Amino acid sequence: MSRSPVVVAVDGPAGSGKSSVSRAASRALGYAFLDTGAAYRALTWLALERGVDTADAAAVVALLDDFSYDTVVTDEGTVVTVGGADVTSAIRDPRVSAVVSDVARVPEVRLALNDAFRRMIRASTAPGIVVEGRDITTVVAPDAEVRILLTADEAVRIARRSAELAPGAAATAEQLRERDARDSQVVDFLTAAPGVATIDSTELDFDQTVQAVVELVHDTVHDTTSD
Ligand code: C5P
Repeated sequence: MSRSPVVVAVDGPAGSGKSSVSRAASRALGYAFLDTGAAYRALTWLALERGVDTADAAAVVALLDDFSYDTVVTDEGTVVTVGGADVTSAIRDPRVSAVVSDVARVPEVRLALNDAFRRMIRASTAPGIVVEGRDITTVVAPDAEVRILLTADEAVRIARRSAELAPGAAATAEQLRERDARDSQVVDFLTAAPGVATIDSTELDFDQTVQAVVELVHDTVHDTTSD
């Protein structure tokens, strides 16, 4: 008998530690992991590669026709390929971060990627899957067993992101604020929807944040199965 995996949906703003926390939590739980932002970044990378103006929605939509995207989770992280080319590092380039919101605001792009995410969730053979992004708790998997909004004060998010990237705190702060502002015009990931648990990592270190996610999953999934 086939069983759907337990879905743990995690949303939050840039620099909240969502990706690394979700990946570590999925490993601790023995679950699969899906980073949805990587798909928006990969499509943006393809646009830049082809010289497509990301502000031109129709041209971006046309790219979906031959967007062959794949991810493989390894111990070192998620390897992302587009048309067979490894774009794992390229999609983290500041050039991509600067315009990814243009691509993410196109409704046809969101519909196509959301379909792909739901297929990936259904295809997972692991007992569960941690899915992280901006609209997972509300749009992609509103029926997920566990739904989490991972937040942290803006100053803390900027400091964490600056430690990851080279350009310096001022530039990082501006980019992060700008991206959050543009993204939040499309989906609200700053307030928890009804039934979504908030984990605020402002005062927590990385391990404590992962632990908070894992405990919430254990409590919720245990409660559900013992009913
Ligand atoms: O999570 P990450 O910062 O890699 O996401 C990159 C971009 O992808 C976000 O800034 C946002 O524009 C878009 N995104 C989205 N919906 C998601 C995940 C990411 O719009 N579920």
